[in-house]
Amino acid sequence: MPHDHEQNPGQNPGHDHGHDHGHDHGPDNHLDPMTARVMALETILTEKGLIDPAALDAIIETYVSKVGPRNGARVVARAWLEPDFADWLREDATAAITEMGYAGRQGEHMRAVFNTGDTHNLVVCTLCSCYPWSVLGLPPVWYKAPPYRARAVSDPRGVLREFGLDLPAATRIRVWDSTAELRYLVVPLRPEGTEGLGLEELADLVGRDAMIGTALAASPATNVPGAGR
Ligand code: FE
Repeated sequence: MPHDHEQNPGQNPGHDHGHDHGHDHGPDNHLDPMTARVMALETILTEKGLIDPAALDAIIETYVSKVGPRNGARVVARAWLEPDFADWLREDATAAITEMGYAGRQGEHMRAVFNTGDTHNLVVCTLCSCYPWSVLGLPPVWYKAPPYRARAVSDPRGVLREFGLDLPAATRIRVWDSTAELRYLVVPLRPEGTEGLGLEELADLVGRDAMIGTALAASPATNVPGAGR
């Protein structure tokens, strides 16, 4: 399946810079090879007049500060509150999320996967780092790291345990491999003791990791605002 490489424009799919270690890409040897390569590309493209650094900064600023997991948390909270919305999200996540105003780059084709009493969902991109930016913002570093990408498939239960999530042996774990064509949002189970809470209060319980599947939604008794790493 075609894959885009949002962090590595032009790179050959399947070759994820592991071959770069030890190379010296520039005058500053303290830069990691990926950063050095990105800076070199940005410099060349700017000098050729092909990109505007200010526009690049604006895009990054948008995803760092304006778009973030709060968007996804509101989608989840609304699904908990409104069965009709949950059905719509299950059937056509792209449309349901777009209706909430969270359409955008790296989120054009979405699928929502719902945790149940006996099934837990976990999202990975084994090939690179496909991630639903429009609902979760920028991906965490570990999501893009080779150990997570490999082990989420080969040993999902062990990976979850390392995240502090020890699921019962009877719980089935479904792993979803993201692509540029289709990205996933995990809808965690609604915690007990949340009857009567409104959308924003419920969204407080839904951290980023719960929507990747490496955590559960927080319970209101133990929640610290912004829970979820
Ligand atoms: Fe990818």
